[in-house]
Amino acid sequence: MTDSKNNTECRRCGICCSKGGPALHDQDASLVGGVLPMEQLLTLRVGEMVMDQPLGKVVPLVEEIIKIRSAPGSTACMLYDDAAKTCAVYENRPAECRELLCENDERLKAMYDKDRLCRRDLLPEGHPLLEIVEDHDRRCSPRKLTSLARRVVSGEEQALEELGEILAYDANLRELVPEKSGLPAEAMDFLLGRSLDLVLAGIGLEVHHEQGRTVLRKSPVRL
Ligand code: SF4
Repeated sequence: MTDSKNNTECRRCGICCSKGGPALHDQDASLVGGVLPMEQLLTLRVGEMVMDQPLGKVVPLVEEIIKIRSAPGSTACMLYDDAAKTCAVYENRPAECRELLCENDERLKAMYDKDRLCRRDLLPEGHPLLEIVEDHDRRCSPRKLTSLARRVVSGEEQALEELGEILAYDANLRELVPEKSGLPAEAMDFLLGRSLDLVLAGIGLEVHHEQGRTVLRKSPVRL
């Protein structure tokens, strides 16, 4: 009988791929822009509420994560083909995918929160997009959104106005940058982080635009 804990080879069953794409680490940097185009990536920014898989609970992020996006309407990694049970980049798959074995997640746990890749590793000093990324982070940080959202929930009109301005700035930038840079619109979730609607959903607020007004409603937390 085989001791499953001692398996050292991936069985390519696809179970881990169906739970979501991996976060990228320093050793994956050379994949970005080639094997992994920007539009297949998503940035989760500091302060966003996310599920920490090894901890099994939702926590605010203390450092940025770049991930492979999920397929639309699914939790599965977008590079996983469920029908064929294959990974589109298997030979060049990222480090987390190489380290995770279904029966034994010790290797993944050992590297999970180490040497995570962030946008500043990929957009070094002087990169024309870095200034836009940093300005966007200053004006639309998840921590700022969380603080404004709390004030909105407690009925502060001024906070609602400020939040509306931030949402409008973010939406304009997501249209303007592809126009000016020639990057695909889908690359904005990498460059500017996932949409602010989703960041707010992570703290339990739904954004609605009704007759020129921004309306926030409490909602079940979506991550
Ligand atoms: S990159 Fe490939 S191996 Fe990794 S989660 Fe996605 S489909 Fe699976």
